Amino acid sequence: MIEQKRNADDILIYNNEIRLYLPEKIFDAHTHLCKRELHEYLSDADGLYNFSNDVSMNELEDSWTTFLPDLEVTGLIMGSPVDKCDLDAENKFVAQSITNEKNRFSLMISPKMSLENLENDIDTLKPAGLKPYLLHALVEDKQNARITDYITEEQLNLANEHGLSITLHVSKPRGMADPENLEDISRLIDQYPKAQFILAHCGRNFIAPNMAATLDALPVAENLWIDTSAVCDIGVFLELFSRYDLSRIIYGSDLVDASAFRGNYIRLGMSWHVVTPNLIERDGGLESRATFAIYENLRALFHAARFCNVREDDIQNIFYNNAAKLFKL
Ligand SMILES: [Zn+2]
Repeated sequence: MIEQKRNADDILIYNNEIRLYLPEKIFDAHTHLCKRELHEYLSDADGLYNFSNDVSMNELEDSWTTFLPDLEVTGLIMGSPVDKCDLDAENKFVAQSITNEKNRFSLMISPKMSLENLENDIDTLKPAGLKPYLLHALVEDKQNARITDYITEEQLNLANEHGLSITLHVSKPRGMADPENLEDISRLIDQYPKAQFILAHCGRNFIAPNMAATLDALPVAENLWIDTSAVCDIGVFLELFSRYDLSRIIYGSDLVDASAFRGNYIRLGMSWHVVTPNLIERDGGLESRATFAIYENLRALFHAARFCNVREDDIQNIFYNNAAKLFKL
């Protein structure tokens, strides 16, 4: 069970910078469950992401209630992005966790998974989408993998046939701004027009110059979507909201492990990092030295939305209606 309680500063930030702008109905297009016994090696992790806990559907719902109280929240549920995990068991665990028909889930896939197994899982578990993970890329240098290194053309073809979404956490040091990623996505949206491509974390653009370079070349298409999860940089959202089609943008929280901790995803030079209060050397300041990453993401998003004059109905679309179209809610 994840233990997160909001303090007075969290509530102040939420009420003043987030709640004022949030619609009542939210579809959270980027969430993860995790069943610990399927991820044994996680016991060595440092606890930053609360890896010592199971994340069941109840835990996710508790997080929604804690961080977005009194709102109607549903979402797209995925497994956890770790290596050496029993994909089959994890997929069954996630599929069985979806008891509310307003939620959707994505099947975790690896390029090694046989087409026969994948088709069987699609028929029996009925996922709304696929979730390939970089960790499973079939290349040595995963930090430079191309999209088809972690989801094969045959798998893309199946996604196309079944009209499934594909949530992509793209690789490469500049994320989606990398010319090879841009070239790949432009080809894939044409070649697989019924597959719905979702670029997670604004195309893994955590810093403004990468978002800007992405938008110089990223096409707008009926089957291309951008999720806002975990990005905490106002500049990224200023670029996105002022330069891209708002009907292609969908909200995602990255709950539970990747955004329910106290900290921030911050820019350092051309890179970005997770920062938590215990990594900061500074005397003084407020006693409460950090709020939750989910709030850093939302306050950055709304700050930018105000300066880009994003209308209230566009906000409602980003937080629900765009996803409703995508997932046929
Ligand atoms: Zn994620």
